[in-house]
Amino acid sequence: EGMTIAEIAHKLHREPAELVKKLFMDGVVATQNDSLSKDVIEVLLLNYDVEPIEKIEVDVADLDTYFEQDVDEESLVKRAPTVTIMGHVDHGKTTLLDTLRDASVTQSEAGGITQHIGAYQLDVEGEPITFLDTPGHAAFTTMRARGADVTDIAIIVVAADDGVMPQTVEAINHAKAADVPIIVAVNKVDKPEANPDRVKQELLEYELVPEDWGGDTIFVEISALFNQNIEELLEMILLVAEVSDLKADPTGLAVGSVLEARLDRSKGPIATLLVQNGTLRKGDSIVVGTTYGRIRTMVNDKAQQIQEAGPSTPVEITGLNETPKAGDQFVVFKDEKTARQIAETRSNEAVEEQRQSVNKVTLENLFDSLEEGELKEVNIIVKGDVQGSVEALVGSLEKIEVDGVRINVVHTGVGAINETDVTLASASHGIIIGFNVRPTPQASENAKSEHVDVRTYRVIYDAIDELEAAMKGMLDPEY
Ligand code: GDP
Repeated sequence: EGMTIAEIAHKLHREPAELVKKLFMDGVVATQNDSLSKDVIEVLLLNYDVEPIEKIEVDVADLDTYFEQDVDEESLVKRAPTVTIMGHVDHGKTTLLDTLRDASVTQSEAGGITQHIGAYQLDVEGEPITFLDTPGHAAFTTMRARGADVTDIAIIVVAADDGVMPQTVEAINHAKAADVPIIVAVNKVDKPEANPDRVKQELLEYELVPEDWGGDTIFVEISALFNQNIEELLEMILLVAEVSDLKADPTGLAVGSVLEARLDRSKGPIATLLVQNGTLRKGDSIVVGTTYGRIRTMVNDKAQQIQEAGPSTPVEITGLNETPKAGDQFVVFKDEKTARQIAETRSNEAVEEQRQSVNKVTLENLFDSLEEGELKEVNIIVKGDVQGSVEALVGSLEKIEVDGVRINVVHTGVGAINETDVTLASASHGIIIGFNVRPTPQASENAKSEHVDVRTYRVIYDAIDELEAAMKGMLDPEY
């Protein structure tokens, strides 16, 4: 039922590029041949018969949905999965990434030359897998908070001699909040004191049940250091990818996300981009976040100069005007003029400010968001001083139901409210509740700049009462 931008442009007697630009300024990333949903078309048409032009607020997180859904089904082809490795410190994330990277080097024809660009691709019998080189859930959720959903599969590494630790739990909750499928890699099984069954037992509590215990979570027992069972892990990644049916349209102009960026003294801004749709080509005019340019050089993870890069390919490019940020999204335009105009509009601080604050959920706006149907459930992060009170609070919060809307506890933990909690809340449009704990100074600062609502309580009943009141629109105003 949708129409492509080109078709709409034809009816309006306008250039498709103009429509693409208008949409982009409203936060919708689309290219000429993408078909638009009715809602988006209505919004677009407002630009043409209503004066003055109305500003439309679009959730940054929705950008992905647009370019994933509105593509021509027939051009869709299978794409490589993108994998992030997470887990507790010292459980072997870096070792695993190194072992896998070594395997990818051995594969490359040049033999031995690699280049750290923030991601690399491994070929498993003709099937590529892309690994993000920055391990950990903090990086993962920071990207999400900026609107980039690049991870298809999360590998949670758990050391078999240490078991489930606090950051293991965080990693699981961050992956779940993003709805990313999890594979558990039980690592260090070479160690005499390794106890993989204990890891499985402990993970039951987090609803990760191994297949041989009747569940549907894939567990692979590996030794990252001694290269044991790594092939099986790779096969399992491909299996999960197959089930997820990952597809992209390699035709058309590229869109995707920034994985890393830095300023090089001689080459200028350098960015690693992950292409998520379309094909990126050397010479393309590109808008990246609030900057733009033409792709001057493009190299892959094997340090080879390449002319084009399709979906799921990480590439390092030069030619941008300024250094973008990890998590920024990019889109290619037909001509440099449009790219520059769009980048200039976007770098306008007001636009940026608006995008930042849009759709952040607070107790104050909770009721309105629920009324307008923007929210289907209320995401909450609970931190407390002791496990017992956290459990009591969560138990009560999960019982709250107001007009069919429920509370979804995305993460709990003992200890101060930290920066990762704030990033998770920002990425999941959630609210943070602290019971007898306070945010760290850095967390407070981040919460303020990212408009994340942090509430602290000393009495469980107060927390429950206030949340319920907020959901009913009966919150006492704050003075
Ligand atoms: P990260 O903090 O999760 O990135 O953990 P690292 O990869 O830095 O590993 C921490 C320590 O565990 C290092 O000393 C590694 O050599 C060691 N390690 C990692 N994987 C294995 C393994 O499979 N077996 C053994 N025995 N040691 C491992």
